[in-house]
Amino acid sequence: RSHTADPGTHNQPRQVPGAAYSRLAPTPVVAPRLLAWSDRLGESLGIARPQRPDGIEAQVLGGNRVLPGMQPYAARYGGHQFGQWAGQLGDGRAITLGEILDTHGARQELQLKGAGRTPYSRHADGRAVLRSSVREFLCSEAMHHLGIPTTRALSLVATGEGVVRDMFYDGNPQTEPGAVVCRVAPSFVRFGNFEIFAAENEANNLRGLADWIIRHHYPQLGEPGPATYAAWFAEICRRTADMVVHWMRVGFVHGVMNTDNMSILGLTIDYGPYGWLEDFDLRWTPNTTDAQGRRYCYGQQPQIAYWNLTRLAGALSDLAADDDALRAGLETYRQRFGQQWSRALADKLGIDAIEGDADDPLIIDLFALLQQAETDMTLFFRLLAAVPVGDSASPEARLATLREAFYAPNLLDGTHGHAVAEWLDRYAARVRQLGEPTELRVARMNRTNPKYVLRNWIAQQAIDAASEGDTAPIERLLQVLQRPYDEQPEHADLFAKRPEWARQRPGCSALSCSS
Ligand code: AMP
Ligand code: MG
Ligand code: MG
Repeated sequence: RSHTADPGTHNQPRQVPGAAYSRLAPTPVVAPRLLAWSDRLGESLGIARPQRPDGIEAQVLGGNRVLPGMQPYAARYGGHQFGQWAGQLGDGRAITLGEILDTHGARQELQLKGAGRTPYSRHADGRAVLRSSVREFLCSEAMHHLGIPTTRALSLVATGEGVVRDMFYDGNPQTEPGAVVCRVAPSFVRFGNFEIFAAENEANNLRGLADWIIRHHYPQLGEPGPATYAAWFAEICRRTADMVVHWMRVGFVHGVMNTDNMSILGLTIDYGPYGWLEDFDLRWTPNTTDAQGRRYCYGQQPQIAYWNLTRLAGALSDLAADDDALRAGLETYRQRFGQQWSRALADKLGIDAIEGDADDPLIIDLFALLQQAETDMTLFFRLLAAVPVGDSASPEARLATLREAFYAPNLLDGTHGHAVAEWLDRYAARVRQLGEPTELRVARMNRTNPKYVLRNWIAQQAIDAASEGDTAPIERLLQVLQRPYDEQPEHADLFAKRPEWARQRPGCSALSCSS
């Protein structure tokens, strides 16, 4: 409201000084066709599943029709990409249609990703390919059901148009099918929306957007003012800490933690070359573009989130009363992260709490062991709950329970097996010392350690099928991933470590940013 709209209605890429957003409609596509729909999200929005794949819903969600009352726009933002200030970025292919009230009375923005060029498209085409759209659709919903703050996805619409991408950066562009995802969130505002105003000295816009976000999304903080800005920043720090703890808990690697991909609400946003740890490796990143520096690898995520928050603090420094107040917010991040990560680790191990000096060696030794031999993170923690902890349990019985988690199980027959058995012995003693009934501990562990996550090679199989017109695998994954902590024995094939064939196949382990 209080920010300036760019009066232009055309979509020529350009600098748009002074604007917070630009009004424009999506660019229509040839043949929009609904491929997938999230019933859970539809229900919470009060929108019924479309009856036909080519009906009015596909028209709207593919960007061909703007309904009365919708005021579509693309937002202007900037960002630090891979550590460097990148200037104006903005919604280069995302267009918000408008807001609706969900069934709880909360405002939700509907945004089409892949909806055509905008003033913020720079050199690119404003479109998205099917493979990345399937990944965003499925992962948004999977993360939500894992209990992780995230933007959601309502629909996946095929455009009937081809999109040209150089997937392997080998100079051989291919035409791939295009798609549009309808994303849903209370707001898609990012750290970068504030950074661009600070960088361009647009003080009124900066304050206007801050006040708008506080009034609409942080009303509990009261009326905006210098003290409120500091409290607001601290709250963003707290939410960001919680989000990253969740990522670390389930082994999620975002892959592109640039400040333009950091939500001001602490939501996981912009699913691109993300992945899940299979082999537990702190240095692993799914993003081939980042393979050299590993800036955004699994183990770096907590530090990078902190660095990103310092960028946001820089952007807000003219608003807050003094920089010390913002520094206090950053300290909130450190403390909150430490606290919550410790809590998450205790839950992963099924113990009451990590008791500093006593338990630290147990954790440190576990992480070292997990890194020494290829060990599947999801399988390991899920199977750990089933390891017999009784005094009389043999080391062999304990190892056998975990065997499936190892990529080279025969290592367990040698020295590595001894080391793991020795750790399990200490772990079992720690658990026995608690004296908690096994069922309670197992239930707690299984609420923390998911059974089903969207492994890249599993997503890729759904993509391959969808490319052939078969959306049943997407449907199945959506169902299974709605209950990621439940056993679901009929889907046990999805509780599996990465098969050997998937190691080098594109999309199955590593991904490029091309999407
Ligand atoms: P990402 O790396 O996906 O977070 O995108 C960084 C920036 O590039 C954002 O401003 C995106 O809107 C923009 N962008 C990415 N892909 C495209 C595309 N195909 N067309 C237009 N803009 C894009
Ligand atoms: Mg982005
Ligand atoms: Mg993106």
